[in-house]
Amino acid sequence: MVGEIILIVEDNPINLKLAKVLLSAEGYEVHVAINAAEALQVLTSCHPALILMDLQLPGKNGLDLTRELKSDPNCKDIVIVARTAYAMKGDEAKAKAAGCDGYMTKPISVATFPGQIADYIKKKTQGHTTVG
Ligand code: MN
Repeated sequence: MVGEIILIVEDNPINLKLAKVLLSAEGYEVHVAINAAEALQVLTSCHPALILMDLQLPGKNGLDLTRELKSDPNCKDIVIVARTAYAMKGDEAKAKAAGCDGYMTKPISVATFPGQIADYIKKKTQGHTTVG
C-alpha cells in the first residue's frame, strides 16, 4: 500500500540502490540501513510494515538480527523477508528458523519484486504473518 514503511537492510550498495529505487517507485516510504546497528537505530524512530533483510552483513548477521527483532514485543509483528546472494542448501530453513516470514534469493527480479513485496505486506494486513 502506498505510504507503508519498508526498511531495507543491505550492505551491498548496488543491491541497496536497486531495491530502494523499485520500492520508492511503488510509493513506499523506504528507509535503509547498511548493518544491524544502523537498522536498530532506524527502528527507534519508525515502525516498518516490512524489513528486507540481507542475511550476509558485516558484524551482526541478518539471522541474528532477525532473532533479536522477533523476540522484541515492539518489533515481532514486522514482516521480515530474508535475502541471500547464495542459494545455499539449508539457508531457507535457517531463515525460517530464525523467524523470517519469507525468503528471496538475489539478484532480485525487477519484474516480480514489487509484487512479491506487496503480497507479503497484504498477507500481514489480512492477519496471516506466515508466508509459505
Ligand atoms: Mn550482504
